[in-house]
Amino acid sequence: MISKRRLIVGAGALVCVAGARPARAALPPISLARHEQAMRQAIEEARRNPVYPFGAVIVRAGSGQVIARGVNNSRDNPILHGEIACMNDYVRLNGNRDWGQMVLYTTGEPCSMCMSALVWAGIGGVVFASSIDGIRRAGIEQINITARAVAEASPFYSGLLLGGVLAAETDRMFMERQKS
Ligand SMILES: [Zn+2]
Repeated sequence: MISKRRLIVGAGALVCVAGARPARAALPPISLARHEQAMRQAIEEARRNPVYPFGAVIVRAGSGQVIARGVNNSRDNPILHGEIACMNDYVRLNGNRDWGQMVLYTTGEPCSMCMSALVWAGIGGVVFASSIDGIRRAGIEQINITARAVAEASPFYSGLLLGGVLAAETDRMFMERQKS
């Protein structure tokens, strides 16, 4: 079974799903300020696509160093969501290794495709801003499977999952996005 903890911070609801199973490579503790700092980098990346502002960065949990970046490029390739673009950038720059020490920050809750890819990679943590509901409210269609549902359906995965970080900002960004 997975223990579920709910943290409410400020105006946005932070939803934390932490595995009760022994973690493969436990992440060092990360403060909310550090989460927000990394999320700001993901937001900056997202602004490169004013129509679909889904941006992501992969950060080394121990140092906070940004290792890779990505923004939605589904115009070129339907699987190039921000998270997948960022994972590709990560492998290009860092090789297919050390995933357990990394945290991916993304402006929108990972869809079932991206969350599955992150689970398969064995990433140490996933932190998102706007929820699937928040993205849908901005008029962007979403597959109705939460990142949490994908994580919970993956008995071999025990990474950190945290939602709602800077969601007020990203909800506004999605609402005010350029309509193509
Ligand atoms: Zn996706």
